[in-house]
Amino acid sequence: MGGCAHARAADLEGYRRLLARTLTGGPVTGVTVADPRVVHGGDFAATLVGRTVTDVLRHGKWLTIRLPGPEVVLLHLGMTGGLVLVADAAPVRFERLRIHAPGGTVALHDRRRLGGAWVVPGQDAEQVTGPLGPDALGIRDAVLGDLLRSGRRPLKTLLVDQAVLAGLGNTLSDELLWAARLDPRRRGSTLTDDEVAELGDRLREILRKSVRAGHIPRTRGWLASQRASEAPVCPRCGAALVRLPVGGRRALTCPQCQAA
Ligand SMILES: [Zn+2]
Repeated sequence: MGGCAHARAADLEGYRRLLARTLTGGPVTGVTVADPRVVHGGDFAATLVGRTVTDVLRHGKWLTIRLPGPEVVLLHLGMTGGLVLVADAAPVRFERLRIHAPGGTVALHDRRRLGGAWVVPGQDAEQVTGPLGPDALGIRDAVLGDLLRSGRRPLKTLLVDQAVLAGLGNTLSDELLWAARLDPRRRGSTLTDDEVAELGDRLREILRKSVRAGHIPRTRGWLASQRASEAPVCPRCGAALVRLPVGGRRALTCPQCQAA
């Protein structure tokens, strides 16, 4: 954990569009499961083949493929998963499954295989995903403020808890707290109105730029530019960054800019 450049809410939005573009144009013509361990729940092939996908949704880190029947296909890409449009039958590296449709063939690859595909009745989706808070993309300040202030837990812990706010992972939550100059150990309940407004502004800016790039930028001015460094320094003030243990995770933090 920690070095992953994926900004899940960001790259997943791109994957959602890829699936919608490819799968909604006509009935699925076939599926190929290269690794049965990633498929859970109902019959993956029988659920998809011959049916036309009606919609592809994203909520937090989950993608939902909607079909005419009661079943949905939930996809989670874990830490290392991705989707790619493929042009021929040759498997891509770490391929787990692929879906063939008139709009093209999409392969799911996942090196560490922490994600997978679940076939469940739509109303049972939460049994797989666990409770999910509002999606981080497009959340309003008032809602964000209510969610974070209701918690006595540290901001870092609240921001990565999918039941509080869905979509942020380790990297994005660090970026956000750094951009808003907030100590990751601060209790959510201590946030002022101004701090909530600043968090909301930075969240929108970071997600907008990350969605456009398809990943969290590692260019100058981004905390993420320092993640892989042996001796990371703050892109804003030049101080040595620290990795603070907070609630079982490590938050990359500037001790100068993010003083409690
Ligand atoms: Zn700094």
